[in-house]
Amino acid sequence: MAGARAQMTLTFEQARECVLRETRAAGDIEQIALGDADGRVLAEPIHADRDYPPFARSARDGYAVRSADLPGTLRIIGEVRAGEVFSGSVGAGEAVEIMTGAPLPAGADQVIMIEHTRREGDRVVIDRPAKTGDNFNPRGVEAAAGAAILESGKRLGFTEVALLAMVGKQCVPVYRRPRVAILPTGDEIVEAGVEPQEFQIRNSNAWSLAAQVRRAGGVAEMLPVARDNYESTRMLVERGLESDLLLLSGGVSAGKYDIVEKVLADLGATFFFDRVLIQPGQPLVFGSARGKFFFGLPGNPASTMVTFEIFARAAVEKMSGATPTLPLLRAKLTREFHHKTGLTRFLPATLSADGATITPQPWQGSGDIAALARANCFLVADADRESWNAGDDIRVLMK
Ligand code: AMP
Ligand code: MG
Repeated sequence: MAGARAQMTLTFEQARECVLRETRAAGDIEQIALGDADGRVLAEPIHADRDYPPFARSARDGYAVRSADLPGTLRIIGEVRAGEVFSGSVGAGEAVEIMTGAPLPAGADQVIMIEHTRREGDRVVIDRPAKTGDNFNPRGVEAAAGAAILESGKRLGFTEVALLAMVGKQCVPVYRRPRVAILPTGDEIVEAGVEPQEFQIRNSNAWSLAAQVRRAGGVAEMLPVARDNYESTRMLVERGLESDLLLLSGGVSAGKYDIVEKVLADLGATFFFDRVLIQPGQPLVFGSARGKFFFGLPGNPASTMVTFEIFARAAVEKMSGATPTLPLLRAKLTREFHHKTGLTRFLPATLSADGATITPQPWQGSGDIAALARANCFLVADADRESWNAGDDIRVLMK
């Protein structure tokens, strides 16, 4: 519905589905150094440049032997270390001393761990029976040359960085990070570096959002605070729509000076929803204008943080070329919990160190940033369930 208020209320699940359906990856690719790849999203599949392991590789320190000779006493004809190749081959009744990472000599078909042998001069006594293929990795079992080992769209972490180094990728093709404009609104908001007057509030939302954007794979672009008047808001919204995504905080409730939606409507916006049945964060706007997506996040700090995590994060991830996920774990409540049905609630809570139990955190409501910082997760109370007993499972969103 272009140019008008949508008055469209969705459930948590419907709203998330809507964000996932509407947003898409920009698809621009850039090449970066391997050392900068952590956290980025791979833009092309990566293939093995050769077999892995590239040779039959010993997994143990011990003796390379022929299983047909076991158990028995074998003559040691030499040794092979990692980084060397044994020039001869293991014949009947013979063994080669071998180190972890060394290539299995020709003729041998297993490695006996040193702990399972007894050395007597130039001989080794092995009491164990034969077990072909033990204690070494045959050539190509981990990946054959040419096999796809990383898919496009994979978020790179330390294991993927190791894999890229393994196949010699010094330069990594990744998706360009989306530029995400952050626009706080409110006459009472002053920049965090300013000494506020009694009735003023420092801008914390832009900072929590910037941290969340960065974690989601975007580049945060901080705009100045928009004042609660049409001109100021419109000028900064237009600037924000030059980025790939615009995040507004505040100004979307039903108050007299909540003019964000009016400004967006005048810019020809399409609104996908403007209310979600969640708490915190009910008045929440998602739409597009001038070919860019925007979220109007409610200004209460808890609302801003939660609505980013459960909705805007998915948009940033999708625009980064990654597959959005929202892992909701489960833990047992340490005490009973009740809420009024109809809204999915996200409340600050403490998850025990082993992740087994969860305790709701006392707090003073959506403005209580200190309580949010004390908590280490959010308890997720389903919209259709009223009460939980101590010991019942409940869903958990990590922060
Ligand atoms: P609003 O959604 O504009 O009605 O704001 C709701 C509440 O959040 C008010 O108490 C605001 O002072 C507070 N708030 C709005 N923007 C910010 C911000 N950038 N940083 C901290 N608090 C904010
Ligand atoms: Mg406001």
